[in-house]
Amino acid sequence: MTVEQKLKALFQLQTLLSKIDEIRTLRGELPLEVQDLEDEIEGLTHRVERFTEEINSLQSEISKRKGTIADAKALLERYNEQLNEVKNNREYDMLVKEIEYQTLDVELHEKKIKDAEHAIAERTETVNASIKTLEERRADLGVKQAELEEIVAETRAEEDKLREKANLLEMTIEPRLLTAFKRIRKNSRNGLGIVYVQRDACGGCFNKIPPQRQLDIRMRKKIIVCEYCGRIMIDPELAGVKLEKTAVEKPKRRRTLRKTATEKKEEE
Ligand SMILES: [Zn+2]
Repeated sequence: MTVEQKLKALFQLQTLLSKIDEIRTLRGELPLEVQDLEDEIEGLTHRVERFTEEINSLQSEISKRKGTIADAKALLERYNEQLNEVKNNREYDMLVKEIEYQTLDVELHEKKIKDAEHAIAERTETVNASIKTLEERRADLGVKQAELEEIVAETRAEEDKLREKANLLEMTIEPRLLTAFKRIRKNSRNGLGIVYVQRDACGGCFNKIPPQRQLDIRMRKKIIVCEYCGRIMIDPELAGVKLEKTAVEKPKRRRTLRKTATEKKEEE
């Protein structure tokens, strides 16, 4: 394989891989949206579970207190009966104290029951709101998942086809060059391992390329990398790229031949 052939193969490979990258990016947002929904649903489910547990324990607290109140009330009834049959002041004082104590105890438990009922009402409201949101999110998730499956199925076939072409092409490229190319590609944010010269600059990092280096690139005698970003360089013609600049400029130049210098300046 000549250098020219190598460069051409690499650029073809780059084109295929860029298309694959594009497909993956297109598909990329949707899995994230699905993931976000799944996370939110998990969070809401935990919340509903936690609050339901709290409601249950508040309810058992209430029934315990109600039991205690019933016991105290039975005692109070008995004390009140005994009050009618007291034999001395000491017994009377003791009974009154006990009645006072039990009455306060009942009041305390009643207050605690009210607090618990209030807390239950609050948590029930939150649980109901969370359940409503949960239902909405589950519906959203269903739609997004269906969408994702559809897109994955649609693009998977295209991606497989591109991947197969890329694999065949990779087999024709010498392993060392291929490894180097893949390393450059991996390290670059836009996934470009080989770029063509664009407006006297590297098509990857847009740094200017010295004229001598540009000439070397056009000679296609050895593989030249950008001295700034390390990407492999190819001249646009070999890459089979029609640069917008030249495509627009050519007819313009012919037309402007008949124009005056001022007209030309205005156009610029
Ligand atoms: Zn560069």
